[in-house]
Amino acid sequence: MTINLISDTVTKPCTKMLEFMMNSKVGDDVFKEDPTVNELENMLAKMFGKESALFFPSGTMANQTAIKIHTEPGDQLICDKYAHVYNYEGGGVSFNSGVSCKLIDGHRGMFTNEQVINSINPPDFYHSPKTSLVCVENTTNKGGGACWDINELIKIKKTCKQNNLSYHLDGARIWNAMVETNTKPIQYGEIFDSISICLSKGLGCPVGSVLLGTSEFINKAIRVRKVLGGGMRQAGYLAACGIYALNNNVIRLKEDHLKAIEIEHILSKLNYIKKVERVETNILIFQLTSNIDSNTFLEKMSENDVKLISMGDNKLRIVTHKDYIDEMHQKFIKILRNFKI
Ligand SMILES: *Cc1c(COP(=O)(O)O)cnc(C)c1O
Repeated sequence: MTINLISDTVTKPCTKMLEFMMNSKVGDDVFKEDPTVNELENMLAKMFGKESALFFPSGTMANQTAIKIHTEPGDQLICDKYAHVYNYEGGGVSFNSGVSCKLIDGHRGMFTNEQVINSINPPDFYHSPKTSLVCVENTTNKGGGACWDINELIKIKKTCKQNNLSYHLDGARIWNAMVETNTKPIQYGEIFDSISICLSKGLGCPVGSVLLGTSEFINKAIRVRKVLGGGMRQAGYLAACGIYALNNNVIRLKEDHLKAIEIEHILSKLNYIKKVERVETNILIFQLTSNIDSNTFLEKMSENDVKLISMGDNKLRIVTHKDYIDEMHQKFIKILRNFKI
């Protein structure tokens, strides 16, 4: 029994999800003739109160498409120094859109409205890049699964409006944030011009992300997706997983959060742990004391069939998910408690 905690992307579709896939109706989605893809897109657009939606093979492609549409080459976007769009999308912002990033030195991947205001280049000052977009991430990945205060997001929206900036949400784990903060999709739909959502994280789908926006925006997105090679044919089999997950796997995210909090409490009492970052959702980042290095720790864990991921600076990351079942949780806790340097 391998206990894989490297990410919430490691989940495999359950039998019921597979059955649901097998029974779905499909067509050629490049011609927009796949009824299941259309159903998933309509379902999410409606939930978030957006005019339109588009299915993507990955969250990266959905984010990159949004950035391409919201910017012109030479522009600058504002994001946190921990942002996925900056750190983990292969330099796509410059490769695909010819855009640079103004990085905010935020807290756990989040920033304030004040920091956004201070990061906007004066529009008349043609020496600096033109600021055209603000990207936020909820929950934050490198920030340890932290959730934004919706009021701060609303304040930033006003700033974007006043300064003619587009506003994009990288909502890879928006379901985790909504479950934890008791917020609703419609609230995020009202705030953001565009939203990307992952189905392949906590929701447990094997593949798939969705981008939301106005009809005009999504019409542009279809073209960009095609350019990036993301037009898929009988994608309804994949979209079916999304429909299944939205109907069955949202509320249960709370269980992942509770397990992560339990691990946090246990780690914080162990003598080989220097610091545990506060857990809000399903991501836990902790730092080892200096008398054990993270590679040695990872090896020892691996001998026990436990997989974690290193974050540098003697820090490690744990992500709980649907396939990290109770039995594994009890075993992992025992391993942590019995571990000796
Ligand atoms: C996983 C993730 C994405 C998208 O990643 P893909 O692997 O391309 O689906 C985007 N943003 C954040 C914050 C993520 O964690």
